[in-house]
Amino acid sequence: MSKILPTCVRRLSHVCTLKPYKETRWLMPNGNPIGAYIYNCVANQKVPVILSDPHVATWYACGPTVYDSAHIGHASCYVKLDIIQRILKTFFNIKLVTAMGITDIDDKIIKKGIDTKTNFTAVAKQYEHEFWLDMSSLNIEKPLIITRVSEHINSIESFVQGLLDSGMAYVAGDGSVYFDTSKFPAYGKLQKMQDSGEPSDEVKKNKMDFAVWKGHKPDEPFWGALWGNGRPGWHIECSAMVSKVFGSQLDFHAGGIDLQFPHHENEEAQSCAFHKTRQWANYWIHVGHLHVKGEAKMSKSLKNTISIPDLLSSYSADTFRMACLMSRYRYTMVYNEDLMKNAEVVLNKFKYFLQQAVVYVNNNDNKASGDYKDKMLENLQNVEEFNFDALKSDFDTASCINSLLNLVNDTNKVIKGDSKDYYPVPVMLIAEYITSVLSRFGLKLQESQDSNVMNSLIDTVVEFRHTVRSSALSSKDKELLSACDIVRDKMKSIKVQINDSNKTASWVFNK
Ligand SMILES: [Zn+2]
Repeated sequence: MSKILPTCVRRLSHVCTLKPYKETRWLMPNGNPIGAYIYNCVANQKVPVILSDPHVATWYACGPTVYDSAHIGHASCYVKLDIIQRILKTFFNIKLVTAMGITDIDDKIIKKGIDTKTNFTAVAKQYEHEFWLDMSSLNIEKPLIITRVSEHINSIESFVQGLLDSGMAYVAGDGSVYFDTSKFPAYGKLQKMQDSGEPSDEVKKNKMDFAVWKGHKPDEPFWGALWGNGRPGWHIECSAMVSKVFGSQLDFHAGGIDLQFPHHENEEAQSCAFHKTRQWANYWIHVGHLHVKGEAKMSKSLKNTISIPDLLSSYSADTFRMACLMSRYRYTMVYNEDLMKNAEVVLNKFKYFLQQAVVYVNNNDNKASGDYKDKMLENLQNVEEFNFDALKSDFDTASCINSLLNLVNDTNKVIKGDSKDYYPVPVMLIAEYITSVLSRFGLKLQESQDSNVMNSLIDTVVEFRHTVRSSALSSKDKELLSACDIVRDKMKSIKVQINDSNKTASWVFNK
């Protein structure tokens, strides 16, 4: 990873020069580098993360349009964003002020209200409530600030008025207000434009112009504005709500890759125009799609969705999060049974290791080795450095998980080996480090209350069997040993694998 700053990058100046709207390059913010590099679509490369306040950053993510239940495509997007937020907070010590916009006024919500003979606001409330329950079940932290379009109509109207006043938008014949892309030469800075040609409908001046206000249509809800009745366009909502809570500049702006164009392009254009600044969002974070094997992107229109409760009836939230951690956030993740089984195996490997580390330390007749500067501690330090470098490089969690697995494999050679040397200190430090990293990634690594009761029951059975088996071994009682084997096999049939050793017996769920 090069730390040489690209020559094409200029420093961001908040003082507007003569032609602010022509700036298509990514402008490096002034301030404090946090040591991380993040991919930015404007620069088309990784760029250093620089914050004006060394320990505080603003973060906005586009939330859902609440007209239907969320599916696992949403789950993968928001879990991956949650992981990145947690990394910024816990590895880089950034106090992140997070906000999410909820689109609760929209064509689809209004149509659903009409179809179900329900007020559209009730439709929006129902699905927003369901959305937060789904996010909670995936252990996604709730944003500190939630902005709803219905609660920010005034901010949106002021934003539109500002664009009209500066001549960057115009009122069209149908009562809608359009952003005039011909007056913003930097349009296309997030995604290169293929064709800006002739307008595709009669009311727009230019093909790429987009509605910041939709003129009123019969039977639709509307709000009164100075230029006419109507309702907000989709893109303007986020710009106006972000400006309301964060002002004229934003550190991180996140969402799914499908939002890069036109949604985020339009947000950047109208926000630069409104605030008369050359760069509004300093860091764009786009999460790759989730695909179902053999099919395209998961979406409602393709009718190939899996709901979040359905997902969690087959796999735990930790397993899904592990699948997300094992893939790079920017790239497409293909959802299938192999992906989930593999994630489950990896998760169980970590859990089993953590159990075994405790057993190793607490049940060992050998003497502790005083040599703490051995290869284990050196290995741990190398892994810590490698992982921090991986996270600095565009949040490479997949490499982190691989290096943690290698650390587990190396340490298992000691735990499971026949060596008479006993290394409780490095083994515990390694277990503690692995627990710490996985927890900081948002894995719970815990069982539910019901599971705790079941675990206690299994512990009791396994301990009792161990006592009986030890006695049978010393008295060479074949009948009793055989009974112990039957218990072991029966437990295995319900996915509880018992591992015998001379001192103790341990067990693990073997899914
Ligand atoms: Zn948005």
